[in-house]
Amino acid sequence: MAGAGPVGCVTALYLARRGIPVTVVEAARDFQEDLRASTFHPPTLDMLDDLGVVQMLIGEGIICPVWQHRDTREGVVANWDLGVLRDDTRHPYRVQAEQFRLTRIVGNVLRGMPGVDFRFATRASGVEQDADGVTLHVETANGRERLRGRYLVAADGASSAIRKSLGIEFAGLTFPELWLVVSTPHDFARHFERLAPIAYVADPDNWFVFVRVPGLWRLLFPTRAGDTAERIVEEEVLQARVQEYCPTGARYEIVHRTAYAVHQRVASSYRKGRVLLAGDSAHINNPLGGMGMNGGIHDGINLAEKLVAIWRGEGEDGLLDRYDRQRRPIAVEVVQTATLRNKALLEERDPAKRREKFDVLRRVSEDPRRARDYLRQSSMITGLERAAAIT
Ligand SMILES: Cc1cc2nc3c(=O)[nH]c(=O)nc-3n(C[C@H](O)[C@H](O)[C@H](O)COP(=O)(O)OP(=O)(O)OC[C@H]3O[C@@H](n4cnc5c(N)ncnc54)[C@H](O)[C@@H]3O)c2cc1C
Repeated sequence: MAGAGPVGCVTALYLARRGIPVTVVEAARDFQEDLRASTFHPPTLDMLDDLGVVQMLIGEGIICPVWQHRDTREGVVANWDLGVLRDDTRHPYRVQAEQFRLTRIVGNVLRGMPGVDFRFATRASGVEQDADGVTLHVETANGRERLRGRYLVAADGASSAIRKSLGIEFAGLTFPELWLVVSTPHDFARHFERLAPIAYVADPDNWFVFVRVPGLWRLLFPTRAGDTAERIVEEEVLQARVQEYCPTGARYEIVHRTAYAVHQRVASSYRKGRVLLAGDSAHINNPLGGMGMNGGIHDGINLAEKLVAIWRGEGEDGLLDRYDRQRRPIAVEVVQTATLRNKALLEERDPAKRREKFDVLRRVSEDPRRARDYLRQSSMITGLERAAAIT
């Protein structure tokens, strides 16, 4: 396993729970504490439950049974009550917790398990393969090493060295503007009526997202043309921007600030011989809808099931082509489409189209049967069912 992000850790745990020996190499010296994903969707919680770690994650997070679409002028447009999914999942809610909480929990479980060799400060740099296995080239403080295994899962993130070394194309687009995440202990719910812990707030000029995580609120918004990463994170510039979204007249305590380039890309193949891509090394998308990490974990579980079958002699190598057949179309046709649609909704400038889109959301959210269909899609249940139906 290359990479101990959420996807590498969860995939490794699935394999280790079934007695498959796993070596995990992670370039960083410790688990990354980056502030990226914060939402775990219901089917992902079911998977983490099967792996015995969901209660630990819930214990560190916030249960979120309702999320919202809002508009800066109209307030709440739609309340999405995940309770309508009670027959679809054991966890009819989203859990708000930063992704580093999951990697720490899973990583610590993994490191105590027999058959797991967990190596920090070990950077994968290249790979060779033959009929029997894979040789992974790694760089450590003590020099270069070669590690041997039957298969390699490349969960080494969006800039995947493994994907690049295999020459797998990563076509798509990068948005011209950077996006910013700002965290503050300030309670935005004091200023916005009936604010849910996750709220996508539409505005033709200034859309943004509110996300609550334990002890903090996060505000996600795009920078404007011409803003540079250095300028936008300057204290005074940030203070002014946050006042635009929630004017208080008082200074905000800003605990974290990060500017991100945002992309929409999918690898041309998830498999090259004995090397399999999963998570951000295989696909990246904008964070509107919280589908990147969740989809990556769904890849990891799908792939791990197949590796277990092959390891035990219960499945053929062709199963790994099925992994690509099942998971790539979900990234291309479901996740890329949904995240682009989410962005288009928030930034819609045409008043007639905005009205029409909001009316649809209102009507759907108020009809339990249609709300269930909508939430099965936004919670990624439909995508998992569609993948499972692909032979
Ligand atoms: C602002 C923002 C908000 C987001 N919110 C959400 C959300 O709410 N829900 C959601 O589902 N997704 C969200 N995402 C996306 C999510 O963060 C990613 O999809 C997720 O981190 C992917 O996990 P991963 O394990 O594939 O990759 P990563 O998290 O990038 O982990 C890769 C790991 O590999 C290591 N690594 C890199 N190169 C090497 C190497 N050569 N050798 C060894 N190790 C290496 C890295 O150090 C890292 O630990 C968000 C993203 C952003 C930017």
